[in-house]
Amino acid sequence: MPINCAVGCGNKAVLKRPKTGDPFCKECFFNAFENEIHFTITNNKLFTPGLKVAIGASGGKDSTVLAYVLKTLNERYNYGVELTLLSIDEGITGYRDDSLETVKQNRDDYKMPLKILSYQELYGWTMDKIVEQIGRSNNCTFCGVFRRQALERGAKLLGVDCIATGHNADDIAETVLMNILRGDTARLRRCTNVRTGGGQNSIPRIKPLKYAYEKEIVMYAHYKKLVYFSTECVFAPNAYRGHARELLKDMEKVDPEAILNIIHSGEQMRFNDFVKQPTRGKCDRCGFLSSQQPCKACTLLEGLNRGLPKLGIGKKSKGDRMIASQDKQLALREKANLVKNDF
Ligand code: SF4
Repeated sequence: MPINCAVGCGNKAVLKRPKTGDPFCKECFFNAFENEIHFTITNNKLFTPGLKVAIGASGGKDSTVLAYVLKTLNERYNYGVELTLLSIDEGITGYRDDSLETVKQNRDDYKMPLKILSYQELYGWTMDKIVEQIGRSNNCTFCGVFRRQALERGAKLLGVDCIATGHNADDIAETVLMNILRGDTARLRRCTNVRTGGGQNSIPRIKPLKYAYEKEIVMYAHYKKLVYFSTECVFAPNAYRGHARELLKDMEKVDPEAILNIIHSGEQMRFNDFVKQPTRGKCDRCGFLSSQQPCKACTLLEGLNRGLPKLGIGKKSKGDRMIASQDKQLALREKANLVKNDF
């Protein structure tokens, strides 16, 4: 027997809302989903008229839905913000090259300007080449660190005021779980923030989809017939996050509210004053935001260029020892050459 939409609009329900389990018709689901994002934006004062916003666009479901919904809400509620798509090409054959085609389609469909920046032009390396050097165990560390800085560089080039990313509720709940399991209180403290960064050396980042469930994002994209790219990266998985994801999915099956409850718990946590916080400054080499000298991106890049790809993996002291040992060997070789030339 057909079930009526829980909102009371008189329409028949066509779906069960993953977040609440309520039966909804398509239109009421679209309204509920968009209104919740509008609430996140207005409640946190994410936008002011004239603000220039770069949307981190990968062509995947999250950033595609983010771009579509921000465009829709900007027109509906007159936010007065200027939206641009910003994509990073990591140089992953069979993955990013294809997904960038979807971003170009988004650019045409949503009539937004698009800027693409590549690891090759910024760092002189592609992820394909990095994986040849480092193998498949630490590749996501390079990719994540470079992408974070590449987005910052792209945003500076575009002269935007903030970067909107497609992080959804599941991503944030996973990050809370990962930081608890790792005992990483510094990251735990800021991972639920809807706005991060900002200040002298960085462009603020915002997460308008912070409370949007992944299943609802997929459902929204499906019923709106949005074009997005759904293939997984050929260099995935990121093992540790994969465990947190599985745990979260299991908990969601038992109680869908678990996702929101984890985020709320993360938001409510209070930390002792003696919990050490990283001091954020500017990297002496590249000038971008960093809590260490040189920044992680410069250290990883130095490792690649020196033929020591593991240099930035693990503790800094280990990396310093690797550099010292390589410098010593080079000095010895140079000395031996000088002696040879003397004869
Ligand atoms: Fe980069 Fe790893 Fe994500 Fe692939 S799975 S895009 S290598 S971070």
